[in-house]
Order: sequence, then C-alpha cells, then structure tokens
Amino acid sequence: MFPAQFEYHRPGSIDEALALLGEYGDDAKLLAGGHSLIPSMKLRLLEPKHLIDLGNIASLKGVRVEGDTVAVGALTTHYGVESSPEAKGALPLLCEVAGQIADPQVRNRGTMGGSLANADPAADWPATALALDAEFICKSDAGERKVPASEWFQGLFTTALEEGEILCGLRFGKLPERTAATYLKLQHPASRFAVVGVSAAVTTDSAGKCVQARIGITGVGTHAARAAKTERLLEGRVLDPANIAAAAALADEGFDAGSDMHFSESDRRELCRAYVERALLGVLERANAGQFQP
Ligand SMILES: Cc1cc2nc3c(=O)[nH]c(=O)nc-3n(C[C@H](O)[C@H](O)[C@H](O)COP(=O)(O)OP(=O)(O)OC[C@H]3O[C@@H](n4cnc5c(N)ncnc54)[C@H](O)[C@@H]3O)c2cc1C
Repeated sequence: MFPAQFEYHRPGSIDEALALLGEYGDDAKLLAGGHSLIPSMKLRLLEPKHLIDLGNIASLKGVRVEGDTVAVGALTTHYGVESSPEAKGALPLLCEVAGQIADPQVRNRGTMGGSLANADPAADWPATALALDAEFICKSDAGERKVPASEWFQGLFTTALEEGEILCGLRFGKLPERTAATYLKLQHPASRFAVVGVSAAVTTDSAGKCVQARIGITGVGTHAARAAKTERLLEGRVLDPANIAAAAALADEGFDAGSDMHFSESDRRELCRAYVERALLGVLERANAGQFQP
C-alpha cells in the first residue's frame, strides 16, 4: 500500500528543521529511520502533508563521552550505539540493549531518538532510559528543555515532547561505583519487539547489600515504567536469590497490563515477575564476578 501524497523536506540543521516545524505545524511529521512512521503512513494511519527528514543533520548523530556523561544523538541508529567504542567503554549496557533490537536491517535504520519519541509500549530503549535515569534533550524555538526519563513516557505512544519540539539527544550520567546491569527480554518471535523487557542496574556495597536499584520495564503496560515496589524492597537488603525472589514478586504492581492475541493479562503479569527475577539474578551473577559498569 502507498502512503498519501506528501512534500519531502531535508533540512541541514536543527534550526532549519525547527523553522519547517513552525511553518507546517500539525501538517508535518519528523522522519528519522522511518521504521515506525513509514509503515503507519502506508497503512494510512498517518497522512502528514509534510515530512521533515532529520537524516542530513550531522549534529544529531553519534555517541560522545562528555566528562561523566554519555551523550547519544537522537539520530544515532541502534547499530551506531551497538558498535560504538565510546558506549562500550563508558556504558556497555547501551550496547547490550541495542544489540537485542530486531535484526541487523532494522538496527541499521531505526534510531534511538525515533524509538523514544515513538514510545511504542513494546520498544526496548524505554526500559533502559528509565533504569539509567536518562535526560531527554529537546529543542524548540524557545530554546533547550531537559526532561527526566521519569517524566517522558506518559501513555500509549505518548511522551512529554511538546508541539514544535525536536528530541535532539539523550544524556546518560555515570553510574555509581559497583553498579552491575543487564537487559533481558522475551522477544516476539517475528518482530523481536519485547513481550517483556527488563533493564536492571543495581549498586551494591562491598558486603553485597543493595544500595540502589533501578529497574525499567517495557512491554507490560501501555508505556514503560519503573518497578518501584521491587526497587524499594531491594534497597537496604543483601542482593541474594531469596530477596530477589521476594522483590520480583511485586514487579508487576502499578502496571496496567492488558491482554492481547499473544498473552492474557495474568500471563503477562507472571512473565513480568519472572523476567524481573531472572534479570536480577543476572545482575547478581555479574556483581559476584566483579563485572560492574565502568
Ligand atoms: C520489523 C521491525 C522490527 C522491529 N523490532 C524492534 C524491536 O525488537 N525492538 C524495538 O525497540 N524496536 C523495534 N522496531 C522499531 C525500530 O527499532 C525503530 O526504533 C522505531 O521504528 C522508531 O525509530 P525510527 O528511527 O525508525 O523512527 P521513525 O519511524 O522515523 O519515527 C517514529 C516517530 O517518532 C518521531 N520522531 C522521530 N525522530 C524524532 C526526533 N528526533 N524528535 C521528535 N520526534 C521524532 C516521528 O515523527 C514519528 O512519529 C522494529 C521495527 C520494525 C520495522
């Protein structure tokens, strides 16, 4: 199926893109990798009159280490993150997540910013943006706005991005010392989207006590969210299998899990609890082996 007719724009800078957004408003859509937008246009779910392709804006691409921060441009492809020596050296969890997204074709086109702006409830990046407390950098005519991950995901395909704004990049702060992390997902066998995806970053002290736990979950509710009760139960306790099991039993609380053609609500909740437990056991194994994020 073909999309409805549209006019194609290819700005060379963020300012030019903002000017086009200002001019065309609701009639325009930003285009990144096109892996969600173009299928929606082909199905005529979306019929923008103007497409503003961000692909020519070099400043939106790449991974940089700036002091204690890893900055990822919104237009960086999943493969660009997966293969980045900077990401591998400073925050290898990012490479671990990127490498689990879809297949090589999708990873070479789809972008981190496109995925996070789209906020598909089954996308992988949202869980990790939450677990790492990422900062979302948005720009508009009014200037720059920083949004914490905890405020970004607001509902089904709904984010805190405001009209006239472009998501320009993400900033990930340095994790506390002795933080072990992992991303674990049950992937849909066809698309590889997450049926359930769990990103966990846990800091322990030298006695093995959990100092801080950050657990982001995707695939379970209408949007990704933190497993707040699990985090609270773990903090202050020794990270061991018994405490992990008790904390994971609360992982689905607060999620508006629904049912679909693949899983009933109760199956989805059970998967959520099981994958949180497995992810935390994986974190424990890494912590015991001294495999901490740098
Ligand atoms: C077959 C297939 C399998 C997939 N499997 C997975 C998977 O396993 N896991 C997973 O997480 N994802 C998966 N995806 C999604 C894919 O990884 C892309 O991340 C996703 O499609 C969005 O990124 P994009 O760059 O293609 O964005 P686009 O499709 O270009 O844009 C998506 C939306 O975001 C908006 N947007 C894009 N960039 C910006 C920006 N910088 N600022 C503001 N708004 C912006 C667009 O206007 C549009 O509304 C899959 C996709 C396909 C086609």
